[in-house]
Amino acid sequence: MLTGIQIVLAGGDARQLEVIRRLTELDASVTIAGFDRLDTPFSGVVKAEWVPEILSEANALVLPAVGTDDEGIISALFTDQELKLTDAHLAAIPKDCKVITGMAKPFLRKLCDKHHLDLIELFERDDVAIYNSIPTAEGALMMAIENTDITIHGSNSIVLGLGRTGFTMARTLQALGAHVKVGVRRDETFARAFEMGFEPFYMPDLARHAGNIDLIFNTIPTMIVTAQVIAQLPLRACIIDLASKPGGTDFRFAEKRGIKALLAPGLPGIVAPKTAGRIIANSLTQIILEDVRLRGNQP
Ligand code: NAP
Repeated sequence: MLTGIQIVLAGGDARQLEVIRRLTELDASVTIAGFDRLDTPFSGVVKAEWVPEILSEANALVLPAVGTDDEGIISALFTDQELKLTDAHLAAIPKDCKVITGMAKPFLRKLCDKHHLDLIELFERDDVAIYNSIPTAEGALMMAIENTDITIHGSNSIVLGLGRTGFTMARTLQALGAHVKVGVRRDETFARAFEMGFEPFYMPDLARHAGNIDLIFNTIPTMIVTAQVIAQLPLRACIIDLASKPGGTDFRFAEKRGIKALLAPGLPGIVAPKTAGRIIANSLTQIILEDVRLRGNQP
């Protein structure tokens, strides 16, 4: 249980509602800022203004999936007010307070460094990335279905990168009856892809494999679907780029050739906010519970 543990949540979207629900179930003392338009009542949760004073006794500050933007603005769906993370907020936080977010931009990293605060980025964790790959693959399928006039079953699909998202994507396509090629760079990944019944190839050969492709799902966060690759694709092909912004596709050239290419960031929060919220809530509570256990400060 988290009895006596003070947690402040600032901003966020529907995913944070799952986090609030879980924290209150565990009996944490929860203060929320940036939720003044929220109608759902959470018993025992304190709604507060986003002022530094609310952080003075916090054990954890929970920020949204993307902590802040490059100017420190915290995205907050449930308020019309602007929430900005400032020096004064972090100066007010006790030194042993954890700052927890999905992923941090340099602004948040620098501010936490400056105040010697422990910053935890949940999306960097393998377990969270693997759980998140499930709604990501489902969202990518949704986009593929919406943007093609063929079934996934029987399609010629390529998945680029066989990491945490790529594996789930390739396996999901395979389960639906697609012919799945996967682009990899390491011998052991090639062998694993072969063992799993995919058709692996090494990335330098991508252009050679592009000739008869209906769908490309990219998970590699570097320029990989280049003009040379796009030049080989049939005009019916659709590229769904899952890699973090700016993606790994030459979108300008794809448009010039008349090939559909879509950058698809943040799919878990878009297609399955409740599940995505539960993934964050599970991981976050696990981290806070572990911290409480290590300090032996559970009341
Ligand atoms: P990951 O586990 O690190 O997988 C990335 C894969 O890319 C690895 O297989 C890696 O190969 C490969 N790779 C990286 N650089 C490469 C290069 N230069 N050439 C060939 N292969 C390369 O990452 P992940 O968790 O799957 O996430 C992948 C991307 O998707 C990230 O940008 C992440 O932010 C994004 N993402 C997007 C969504 C969404 O909603 N769109 C959701 C979740 C994640 P090795 O294994 O050989 O290193």
